[in-house]
Amino acid sequence: MTSRDEFKQAPHKLLVIPGPIEVSDDVLFSNALPPVSHVSPDFIKIFGEAIRMTREVVFTKEGQPFLISGSGTLGWDQVASNLVEQGENALVLHSGYFGDSFADCLQAYGAKVDVVKAELGTAVSQSAIEEALKAKKYKVLTVTHVDTSTGVLSDVKAVAQTVRRVSPDTLVIVDGVCSVGSEELRFDDWDIDVVLTASQKGLGTPPGLSILVASPRALRVSHSRTSPVTSYYASWKKWLPIMKAYEHGAAAYFATPPVNLIQAYHSSLRELTRSSVSLDERFKLHREASQRVKAAAVDLGLKQIALEPVFAANGMTTLYFPEGLGPSDVLPRFAHRGLVVAGGLLTSIKDKYFRIGHMGVTAVDTSRGDVDTIVRVLRESITEAKMQRAR
Ligand SMILES: *Cc1c(COP(=O)(O)O)cnc(C)c1O
Repeated sequence: MTSRDEFKQAPHKLLVIPGPIEVSDDVLFSNALPPVSHVSPDFIKIFGEAIRMTREVVFTKEGQPFLISGSGTLGWDQVASNLVEQGENALVLHSGYFGDSFADCLQAYGAKVDVVKAELGTAVSQSAIEEALKAKKYKVLTVTHVDTSTGVLSDVKAVAQTVRRVSPDTLVIVDGVCSVGSEELRFDDWDIDVVLTASQKGLGTPPGLSILVASPRALRVSHSRTSPVTSYYASWKKWLPIMKAYEHGAAAYFATPPVNLIQAYHSSLRELTRSSVSLDERFKLHREASQRVKAAAVDLGLKQIALEPVFAANGMTTLYFPEGLGPSDVLPRFAHRGLVVAGGLLTSIKDKYFRIGHMGVTAVDTSRGDVDTIVRVLRESITEAKMQRAR
């Protein structure tokens, strides 16, 4: 058996899509440990620490983390089933594909949903939000911090300020699946009610864990609802005692936690919160990686979807293909050079662009040279594809 210090993951293509992402050897080793009992003292300690470190990552003292087996999507179900009652209004800020999906999920649980769409490549403006909030009373407002289909970054701090000023009781829900760990998000300072995320993007863990943090206000709203919670598995009533028990050193059972994944997530959280690189330094390293990739794209004459730098995410980059070229002309050239990038996702322009992720160890562990590799392969692949077209 290999020890933790000796363990090295098998050679593989570099995974630079906007999730799942490359994970460290330590995280992968934790994921490969023999499963432990979910009620054993060792696991109780790990789960409790994972809950506490999750708070640190989003800068909250009072927020209540929920770590539940499931993908990021389960966070939408938690929000819709615990916070919104039949016929209540939800306002969805749309900066790409994931706004549509969140709206769809809210509707599935009986919410009346209005969607405010930003122009492609931008985020919804504060004036549009203010106008919508003045026209109707909304139980929740949702904002996608980074929409993974467009690479558009929304100003969550400003959105929350607008909500508090215009409609103080509306709950501010942040879809942070593609931002937590790679973009700054200050839950308490910005007065957020829910941030939902997942293990496999900026948090640098294999997929399978839904991670959500709810404010005391959000928990109060869910406790005081008049109709029952509309989900069994996603019910905070069921999960809250479990999270509290583990945090206070005792086991409790509602549904089996993914013990291996929690161990892997715990290892990643230690890297995020206990390493020599502070969280703020981590965000800065993501900004630097992002600027390098975006500068290389500009050199090659490639256009981003984000129309202005303020709308551009730091953990990923979306780029239109050069004129006259499509996915099959370009993407195999990346794969051939050992790099896995992602195609388009937003239906209206699906075959016109591609996406590169630069989150987690790829951005933070500069000794890996991942960003150099991305820049080199981007240059080689695009140049080669253009030459092929010219022939
Ligand atoms: C990836 C993603 C989701 C969905 O997460 P899954 O883990 O695929 O269920 C939701 N919102 C955003 C912004 C995402 O990037």
